Amino acid sequence: QPVVGVLALQGAFAAHARVLRELGAEAREVRVPADLDGLDGLIIPGGESTTMTLGIEREGLAEPLRALAGAGTPIFGTCAGLIVLDRNHLGIMDTVAERNAFGRQVHSFEEDLTIAGVDGPPVRAIFIRAPWVAEHGEEVEVLAAVDGHPIAVQQGNFLAISFHPELSGERRLHERFLALVARAAAERAS
Ligand code: GLN
Repeated sequence: QPVVGVLALQGAFAAHARVLRELGAEAREVRVPADLDGLDGLIIPGGESTTMTLGIEREGLAEPLRALAGAGTPIFGTCAGLIVLDRNHLGIMDTVAERNAFGRQVHSFEEDLTIAGVDGPPVRAIFIRAPWVAEHGEEVEVLAAVDGHPIAVQQGNFLAISFHPELSGERRLHERFLALVARAAAERAS
């Protein structure tokens, strides 16, 4: 059973932990650096990226999070998590996120998306004051876009999306992430 952390400083962490448990992973709430020990993967949830970034600084989590990423541990960022992973924050992904990119007046909307690597019916995506990826390096693969703006991206073992799958009963993004987690664990063991 993989052990997957959920950064639990602020935001939608409880809903992610629930989805992970439903899919058979062990979910661990992460609040301090020691909580990262032995993780097979980590989710950085949606919430408020400024508050989350302050919490990361306060708890001394920035370097340990970069070290986790540097060790090849899969990381999945959703919404504020996509922002926290970018070049201007933790610098784990070669992306620049634009916050509240869909316009301040549009607090939330839903859209059916086709996402590369997610089979079956379209993904019902809930966007809440969502970011998009404004810039990215060549090694970043765009899995889905809205109006030409990337909202689901992957760079090796790092996956980031602008929307909230944990709020719509959507499980396939977490399944896709757990497949990365399983592959990384198998590579470590071999
Ligand atoms: N607008 C938020 C931010 O900038 C992100 C919104 C979300 O995570 N739902 O941090």
